[in-house]
Amino acid sequence: MDALPTTTVDADTLRSFIAEIFVAAGCDAEEAGRIGHHLVSANLAGHDSHGVIRVPRYVRWLADGKVRAGQTPTVVTESATHAVVDGNLGFGQTIGPLAVDMGIAKAQAAGLAVVALRNSGHIGRVGDWAERAAAAGLVSIHFVNVGMGELVAPFGGVDRRFGTNPFCIGVPQPGAPPLLLDFATSMVAEGKVLVASNGGKPIPHDALIGPDGALSSDPRTLYGPIENTSVRDPGNGEGALRAFGDHKGSGIAFMCEILAGCLAGSPTAGPNPGAKRGGIVNGMLSIYLDPQHFGAAGFAETARGFAEYIKASRPASPGGEVLVPGDAESRTRTARLRDGVPLQVETWAAIQATGAKLGLSPPG
Ligand code: NAD
Repeated sequence: MDALPTTTVDADTLRSFIAEIFVAAGCDAEEAGRIGHHLVSANLAGHDSHGVIRVPRYVRWLADGKVRAGQTPTVVTESATHAVVDGNLGFGQTIGPLAVDMGIAKAQAAGLAVVALRNSGHIGRVGDWAERAAAAGLVSIHFVNVGMGELVAPFGGVDRRFGTNPFCIGVPQPGAPPLLLDFATSMVAEGKVLVASNGGKPIPHDALIGPDGALSSDPRTLYGPIENTSVRDPGNGEGALRAFGDHKGSGIAFMCEILAGCLAGSPTAGPNPGAKRGGIVNGMLSIYLDPQHFGAAGFAETARGFAEYIKASRPASPGGEVLVPGDAESRTRTARLRDGVPLQVETWAAIQATGAKLGLSPPG
């Protein structure tokens, strides 16, 4: 598949157009602004898979009742150090910050807290939530499941059994972006197959597996025929994404399901009756730690020193460089804030078409 040309849109223009789309689709201005902010934030971090490419799907899900505007989380149970909250299928961009803020407040008071979030609409790039905790001075650890989003084959199997179940750890760095590990437990996030199917960066040759066990990088393995379609539907394909790291990545995906699905009380993968409802329901089990309660004087500086030691490793190839988690995102953010956000032309056309259906003209 040949790479399609890209176009560049500046972040502010993109944010306001996405916000206009969601106001036209039925959200209030604040929620629409949050959706625009967080989707563009994913593009700025370099994770186009979780950025504005999601707009057509979100609008369709809103119209179909698979995600709901104007929700707030309901507290199911809580103590000084934990809470279980139900996102009521609200937009993850609204539910996410409220759930995270609850964890931040409890951890700042008690030293640590666990918040189990169930039934949230798509929470997007999980790194946004770890960055929010880091901005408040907290370490955070997030296990996420994608209930009803079975796309990933377990190690040794070919059938879809897991969601792309992301895992994330954020560590604050005063005056600098946090150390931030944030990845899907599939070899690539589904959105990266989506980006590839629109002519964007190709995925690795072995990222997908067909029903016969053959490894593939062809997005059709996941989506079925894609010619002359603008909305990709994994329901039309027969293959699966593969978990990263063989049995180890597959094992983390499994535990994300156990913690964010079974323990948090969010829908899990499995032959449950709701499995075919469509949309994405995220569960997220988050642990918040306040370093100030741990007696590790100079924690942030020690962590920074360690990161610098890692980066000082001799590169494996000439001209290479060793990075630590979070470097790639902060560099891309700096560049894209300066130069604009590159979008595949097909992605930008699909967003504009979604706006046009809602009576909006594209940004001038
Ligand atoms: P990825 O494979 O690009 O990995 C990103 C991680 O690797 C980051 O922590 C980054 O700093 C680090 N990294 C990148 N290059 C590095 C290098 N050279 N050296 C050291 N570290 C490096 O990420 P992904 O798996 O494609 O995930 C993309 C996004 O998708 C994430 O933000 C994730 O939260 C999100 N996601 C969300 C859902 C959901 O349901 N909400 C599901 C899956 C994924």
